[in-house]
Amino acid sequence: MNPFNLLFDKPAYTLYRYNPDNPLILVCEHASCYIPAQLQQLGLEDKAAKEHIAWDIGALDLAKGLSDKLNATLLVANYSRLLIDLNRPLEAPDSIPDVSEIYTIIGNQNLAKEHIEARQVNIFKPFHQKLAELIAESKQRHDNTRLVGVHSYTATYKGQARALQAGVLYMQARHYGEQILAGLAKDPALIIAANEPYQCAYGEDTTVPLHGDDNHIPAVLLEIRNNEINELAKIDRWVKLLSPVL
Ligand SMILES: [Zn+2]
Repeated sequence: MNPFNLLFDKPAYTLYRYNPDNPLILVCEHASCYIPAQLQQLGLEDKAAKEHIAWDIGALDLAKGLSDKLNATLLVANYSRLLIDLNRPLEAPDSIPDVSEIYTIIGNQNLAKEHIEARQVNIFKPFHQKLAELIAESKQRHDNTRLVGVHSYTATYKGQARALQAGVLYMQARHYGEQILAGLAKDPALIIAANEPYQCAYGEDTTVPLHGDDNHIPAVLLEIRNNEINELAKIDRWVKLLSPVL
């Protein structure tokens, strides 16, 4: 047995809600900043280990709010993306990042092959197997299965404040993505955009290209600026904005 398996003391995911009657599937890949204690925060200071590099601040609460409001299935990751990024293919160079933004991730440098495999086997594979199962089951029951990843991004980037409040990222699901953006645009004060502040791509993402486009179902990532969803009242506002258009 791989001795590194013992490091991973939680299941890879939590199925926060399971409702196969609803063709909408929500997923929160960067929900958690949890790093097992034995890994000593991968060498990061306390503050850095709770920052955006470790997880998407606010994304879990927003995803739960949407799941509650819409009675939709929600699959939630239980480990920090710094251990292994669930929205990166295993072959991506930053699947296990040894540098993130301004931080060097000491605990990710020069990892033993067995340690990398343990992260893949205990975190990445069970999460993606479950998501694939949920999608396959939904496609058997519905002809309008949809997949939505809930993410957040930092309010400043390289010292610049970001004006964008939310982005909808998609590849093949242009119709669905534009429908969501059109719904949000009913509030003319909102600053929103398609495929900003990031873009999805094969080789860099899993959720949209692999679980969505390759399955021929509409799939998008919602990216919300994290200071828009750092308090319950603000999250409620985004639940109200997004729930009618998903
Ligand atoms: Zn994210």
